[in-house]
Amino acid sequence: MNYRHAYHAGNHADVLKHAVLARLIEHMKKKDKPFRVVDAHAGVGVYDLSGIEAGKTGEWEGGIGKLAETFAPDVEALLAPYRAVIAALNPGGALRHYPGSPELALRLMRPQDRLIANELHPQDAVALERQYLHDPRCDVTSMDAETCLKARLPPPERRGLILVDPPYELKTEAEKTVRMLVQGVRRFLQGVFVVWYPLKADATAETVLTGIRDIGLPATLKVELRVREAFSAGGLAGSGLAILNAPWKLDEELRLLVPALAQRLGIGRWGEAQVAWINKPV
Ligand code: SAM
Repeated sequence: MNYRHAYHAGNHADVLKHAVLARLIEHMKKKDKPFRVVDAHAGVGVYDLSGIEAGKTGEWEGGIGKLAETFAPDVEALLAPYRAVIAALNPGGALRHYPGSPELALRLMRPQDRLIANELHPQDAVALERQYLHDPRCDVTSMDAETCLKARLPPPERRGLILVDPPYELKTEAEKTVRMLVQGVRRFLQGVFVVWYPLKADATAETVLTGIRDIGLPATLKVELRVREAFSAGGLAGSGLAILNAPWKLDEELRLLVPALAQRLGIGRWGEAQVAWINKPV
């Protein structure tokens, strides 16, 4: 396992993922009934943008670093929960600490909601455990994501948001992601599943999206943000999220939010957004 999220925290892909994740948690909170977030690839929780790893790539400067200026009020209203978490982590105002998915979830969740934060990398799992040791709402585990979903789905609350956010380091990871989703949906049909995928000059996105379409769940939405053209050996040109069992009206929110983010984060003439149904709601 070579991937460490500390090198990439706060980049354009994180901005898309976390802005959408924050919207999803807001939707979950519309009902009083508790819900559970299962974060199968959690990372360490909080990232220091002034640290050695973030400094080596400077990726955050092309992501959260470009969000200092505000957007139009309707876009800001949708970004508000995400911005509030970042502001709470940086009380002095200057941007230094960036929230990963478990931090974002815990800060937006209510006392009755629960988080399972799972991370396989031994060092990152220790850091994650240390970070959330004292939060009774959070259970940290360290196992393979596929095992985690098998063990933890369905959640006892029968309401849940499942984040599948692998690094796609291995050639087999796109197929594994689809397999995890097939098994996850079989166990927890009503769960809201969120899957991150990279947009690169390879077949990863296509493999993931074809697999997800074939699962056949209605209300499966895809949202993509490209910051530049993809070329071979050119790395990450953008990213996408597939949302299975997408909450009602999430598509309308994202049709407003994601183009604004794409315009801001795009490099040069680039900056493309796409929000489309993979399978429409019934
Ligand atoms: N979800 C995090 C966030 O948004 O802040 C970022 C996660 S990062 C993209 C992917 C994480 O998955 C890494 O921390 C990596 O160590 C972990 N990982 C890699 N393979 C895994 C596996 N098979 N099971 C669980 N975690 C894994």
